[in-house]
Amino acid sequence: MKPDLLQELHGILGDKGILTGADVHEGYYTDARGTGDVKPQAVLRPASTEEMSQVLAACHAAFQPVVLQGGLTGLVVGARPQEGEIAISLERMNRVESIDTDAGTITVQAGTPLQVVQEAADAHDMVYPLDLGARGSASIGGNLSTNAGGNRVIRYGMTRDLTLGLEAVLADGTVVNSLNGYIKNNTGYDLKQLFIGSEGTLGLITRATLRLYPKPKTQVVAFCAADSFDAVRELMAHMRAGLGADLSAFEVIWSKTYDVILSDVPGIRAPVPTGHAFYILIEMMGSDPISDKGKFEACLAQALEGGMIADAVLSRSNAEIDAFWDVRDGMAHAMGNQRPATGFDISLSVADMENIEEELLTRLQAALGPSRLFIGGHLADGNLHLVAKAITDGPQPSDAIQDIVYGWVGEVGGSISAEHGIGTLKRAHLGQSRSPAEIALMRTLKHAMDPRNILNPGRVIAWSTNDPDQT
Ligand code: ZN
Repeated sequence: MKPDLLQELHGILGDKGILTGADVHEGYYTDARGTGDVKPQAVLRPASTEEMSQVLAACHAAFQPVVLQGGLTGLVVGARPQEGEIAISLERMNRVESIDTDAGTITVQAGTPLQVVQEAADAHDMVYPLDLGARGSASIGGNLSTNAGGNRVIRYGMTRDLTLGLEAVLADGTVVNSLNGYIKNNTGYDLKQLFIGSEGTLGLITRATLRLYPKPKTQVVAFCAADSFDAVRELMAHMRAGLGADLSAFEVIWSKTYDVILSDVPGIRAPVPTGHAFYILIEMMGSDPISDKGKFEACLAQALEGGMIADAVLSRSNAEIDAFWDVRDGMAHAMGNQRPATGFDISLSVADMENIEEELLTRLQAALGPSRLFIGGHLADGNLHLVAKAITDGPQPSDAIQDIVYGWVGEVGGSISAEHGIGTLKRAHLGQSRSPAEIALMRTLKHAMDPRNILNPGRVIAWSTNDPDQT
């Protein structure tokens, strides 16, 4: 970094707004996948959009690349600094600015943790429905820039569907304010979509107006077992038809994954015995305390009679609801426990899920010898998480495992990233989910909006088609 740039940034941000030397602790180069080997030369901590704008204008003039950081909970190594970058942290832009209960909107700064937004909505008897395991640290800005999904997408959609407006700062410091919170606003290009899901490569999100919903009055959860994938598929259609929009989660755990959740996650008790092929968490959130539970029970009874489920337990208390969700959320822990292993977050049609375990295990074992595969996820969204590993005393052949899994995902027309993004981790595989024309258009946008390549460079797409990692 040029020495006079540091001085200029200090002039903009003051002592509190810039960290250097020993003050740049490991937290600024550690993400959910571990600690990076590049410590950023400085961490900038702007406290307002105005400061963010001035910072970017200065970095743009100096050709200085930056990496934007929210809660550093991302799973695709997008926020960890690379050589030559300085970090911009959103940690001082963490306020809920306003709530409008008539319109059902909340306006927040990008560094606000997801859980703070959820609690602010709750205090007004509303709900901000995005929910994921890292809620305590994940920032709204990070959720937006990765278009985060989570457990209730089936009912409320992805982050994109929950965003009515946002404010972003472009590479040269220009502030683009599209914060108006209208549901209907057909006035030309929907510019906010350029910033949602583009992982900070086209502009840095500073504030957002998000959608709130009335708080559901009832919540019932069933934990079920099924003996075939056909039964699971039939059950999903049955519950969708029976509960309509009140169906708020349909999560499926493959049997080998259920076994390791029970054996590896502390404090977990099996809601239903092992020995079945699939385990399903079904949740209903409704608005009628008198009839909702009966409706849910009736649906479940029909599923039992129709042979869709082999076993089921229904929640009788909030503690049981939490306990059932702990089993589902224990999947992340149990899969993490398989390390060293290779993790995946894929989208595919429900029809293709039927064969996924057999198909992938056959290919892995043919290429790598004895292998293990753990599968589970948001079946109703067409999104599964998996972890694959070769049984070996040597290093994990993770490149070969990725080639096998992504190769198959590409063959069936699936997506190599359903809800985690691309970052640097999956960039080389982007071509397995996106066409050359699509990637070329992404690059056209990147070159137009960030001509000096200073915003999160190298994330999502390579700058040049000559990059061996991506053509
Ligand atoms: Zn997920």
